[in-house]
Formats: sequence, structure tokens, C-alpha cells
Amino acid sequence: MISLKDVEDARKRISEIAHVTPILQSEQLSKLCGNQLFLKSEHLQKTGSFKIRGASNKVIQAIENGGKYVTAASSGNHGQAVAYVANKYGVSATIVVPENVSKCKINAIQAYNGKIEMCGTTSAERLPRAQEIADQENGVFIPPYDDPLVMAGQGTVGLEILDQVEQIDAIIVPIGGGGLISGILTAIKETNPKIKVIGVEPELANDTYLSLQNKEITAIGATTTIADGLRSNQPGDLTFPVMMKYLDDLVLVSEDEIRQAFSFVMERTKQLIEPSSATTIAATMFNKINMKDKNIVSVISGGNVDLDKVHQMIVSATE
Ligand SMILES: *Cc1c(COP(=O)(O)O)cnc(C)c1O
Repeated sequence: MISLKDVEDARKRISEIAHVTPILQSEQLSKLCGNQLFLKSEHLQKTGSFKIRGASNKVIQAIENGGKYVTAASSGNHGQAVAYVANKYGVSATIVVPENVSKCKINAIQAYNGKIEMCGTTSAERLPRAQEIADQENGVFIPPYDDPLVMAGQGTVGLEILDQVEQIDAIIVPIGGGGLISGILTAIKETNPKIKVIGVEPELANDTYLSLQNKEITAIGATTTIADGLRSNQPGDLTFPVMMKYLDDLVLVSEDEIRQAFSFVMERTKQLIEPSSATTIAATMFNKINMKDKNIVSVISGGNVDLDKVHQMIVSATE
């Protein structure tokens, strides 16, 4: 398992590339949620999500070890982050994307000079392909979450929160494959174990919830949750033990609750956040966490949303 030291090392390594993102507050939002809410704003991070933290920690190491080429499998935030970091440090990147990827996602990767390869429609097809290209070309494969350097990089969000917010009672974190939360858990629990760390999943992507219940990694089928950053269908071999050890609670939110939280945040704070991040607001807004008048940090993990989806979400939330 990774340790606090790994997260501290990551913080030094990525300090020249990732922003220290701000904490935003909204009185209206705090009032509605019955707690003092602090938004750790990774939607204002470079490339629009926290994924650049883990990606840069891993890519910088690869370069230090003589690597000149990296690959990743993701059409979303991880793919953009890897392409950005590789471009920044002058190494080439190939990003393996699904055949049905949207044009705007391809554009985002190409804007950072990433090469695109299309492969299948599932991550089960894409991940081995990205690994295979890396092996053939003497490159380094950058996993989306199940990797010690990636997890440690994501954990730097936790170290920043400790510096930025006083007297924290709880931190709420969305869970996909568990890279973000396992890094944050390591940073927080090995510094101040009294702070509660609570995970959130969509009801439609409850793989980690089931895995914790079963005390073993449990996979679910393909899911269509609007929280597209949380669609991974099982927790990682490396992330799951960290969650087993440290997680205080894991709550589930419905699609409708996610849409309502998304619309409320947009209306009241004027911030465009991803549905994946709106889950953390939905958790307090719909009383899933059983806390009142506490200091709660919501990790707003990203802000990359296709604009045509924004309209749909607001319309269906206000119907
Ligand atoms: C990847 C991602 C997540 C989930 O992170 P994991 O490390 O896979 O748990 C949450 N929100 C956004 C915006 C993401 O891009």
C-alpha cells in the first residue's frame, strides 16, 4: 500500500505542473445542505480535472527513468491529462479511445498533440491494447487508477485540503476505480484519522459498495449513469485494500439526485461541474451522510461536460 510519504513526494514532483486549486463556498448551498460546505475545486484544475495529478506523477517518473513515450486508455479526463503532461514534457503519447468517442473528446486530446487510436467500445478492450502498444514501442503505460504513483498523485488533493480548511469534520469523495479516494484516504488518515472520509457512488455504478459489503472485489455489468467518470465496473486491486482499511462510509445517490445537485450548483454558484462531482453535493443535499452543522469538504473532481448534455440535465432536473 502507498504511504503518506509517497503522497508528499508526489506533491513535490507535480508542483510545477498542477495548480493548487481554490476552495469555494456558497452560503445558499451550505444552507440547503444543513452544513458548512467547502468545495475543493478541481474543476478549475489544468485540463479540467484532478486526473493531471496522478498522470503527471507517473509520467514524470517514467521520463526520469529514460521513458520517451507513454500510452493510456481513456476518452475522458485521464486521456486528456496524460496527453497534456506528455506534451508539456516533450514525450509523445498515444491515447486509446472507444470507437464511439465524441468529436469534442478527440479534439481535446489532439489539442495536446496526443495521437488517437480507436479500439472497441469497452475498457476491457482498450486497457490491454494501450498496454500492448506501450510494450511494442518501448513506452510506459499510464493506468487510470490502479497504480501506486497515480494513487499518490491523486492524494495530493488531500494534503491541500488539510492546508486550506480548518477543523474539517468530513471529506466527501466520488469513487470510480478508487484512485482519487485511496490517495486522499492515505493523506488524511495518516495525518488526522479523526477526519471522516466518505465515498459516494451512483446507485447505477455501485461496484465498490458491493465489494465492501462482500469484503472482496465484486464487478457489476456495464452502466449508463450520467456520472461518466464513475462508470468503472469494479474497484482496483490496489485501491480496494486502502478503501477497506480506511473508509468511514460509502453512500449511494440516484440519477435524479445527481441532476438536481448539478442544476443547483450551476444556478447558485455559477460553477460548471461534472455530474461525477455533483454526486458529492447530492450526498449532503439529500441527507445521506447524517451530519448537521459540520464542516464538510466536497471534492469537486472535474468540470468537463459536453455542452449539449448540460441543457438536458437542467431540463430534466426542473421537470
Ligand atoms: C476519474 C474521475 C473520478 C473517479 O476517480 P477514480 O480515481 O477512478 O475513483 C471522479 N470524477 C471525475 C471528474 C473523474 O474524472
